[in-house]
Amino acid sequence: MTTFMKTLLLLLPLATLAASAADRPYGLVIHGGAGVIERSALSPKREAEYRAKLAEALNAGYAVLEKGGASLDAVTAAINVMEDSPLFNAGKGAVFNADGICELDASIMDGRTQAAGAVAGVHRIKNPINLARDVMAKSEHVMMVGDGAEIFARSLGYEMVPNEYFQTDWRREQLKKAQEKEKSGKERTAAVPADYFTRTLRWGTVGCVALDRAGNLAAGTSTGGMTNKKFGRVGDAPIIGAGTYASNATCAVSATGWGEFFIRVGVARDIAAQMEYRGTPLQAAAAATIAKVGRLGGDGGVIALDAQGNVAMEFNSPGMYRAVRLSHRPATVAIYGDEAK
Ligand code: ASP
Repeated sequence: MTTFMKTLLLLLPLATLAASAADRPYGLVIHGGAGVIERSALSPKREAEYRAKLAEALNAGYAVLEKGGASLDAVTAAINVMEDSPLFNAGKGAVFNADGICELDASIMDGRTQAAGAVAGVHRIKNPINLARDVMAKSEHVMMVGDGAEIFARSLGYEMVPNEYFQTDWRREQLKKAQEKEKSGKERTAAVPADYFTRTLRWGTVGCVALDRAGNLAAGTSTGGMTNKKFGRVGDAPIIGAGTYASNATCAVSATGWGEFFIRVGVARDIAAQMEYRGTPLQAAAAATIAKVGRLGGDGGVIALDAQGNVAMEFNSPGMYRAVRLSHRPATVAIYGDEAK
């Protein structure tokens, strides 16, 4: 064999490796909440605003990945756009709790290392997903709540915003309606618990799952929770394994919906566990888990992505704000149940 041929044989595996890295799919999926989102409930103008903001968040995340950035950075970039928009129930525009203030929860997970961070019940953090990430990266803990989380933020030099920054008139109106219904006694009886959190009053939790060019998955979720929530109530969004989960071995998941049910099912981890223990494909696993939520009486949905670039956007509510952009397929933005899943 000539030296030339020997060199060629040596370089061949390297070239194949480089080609497979270049072909490897990357991209992200986002959601802006699930719920009773029907055509009759959104004016064409409002609908266009949602679609435009979803596309902006999607592209912000994709730009990070395209440049070779990390999936964790894509997740925070996409979520920051939605947290800063009054359209979604996260950051600015969050729903009000029973005391008439916004109380925010968020979590993030790195699929490469399974490191995770979460905050719950914070009142003055402009972008709670960033603080969740700092809990993951700069503390020894996974979850911090309330004042403690804000003291930690201050120690890192975070600028605190007044709670009024998050408050919007239409969310205040939703609180008023929820409290009027509650007073009239028509809601929250043991017989009809499904009516307690009026399903229409909490659209807009945001989340993102991303796969970067290095093959690493990440997931994040940020929310104001549910309108009229009481007594320091915390939902699934900041709970690792319920609202958020990521592992390169299986998938990345971000959930939205009636948090009490999502916690009880352990939604995000349940999807990953089916893949891990049974080899169930992503879509089938997501559908089975959402069916479990439905059987208990809950509603909502998930976005999920695996390391091969397979996507699931599964929900049992009439709609879910959602968008996907992957290197190997055209981008889509959807809202209603009859659009592409
Ligand atoms: N899952 C959120 C919560 O229960 C709300 C939502 O996603 O709509 O706090």
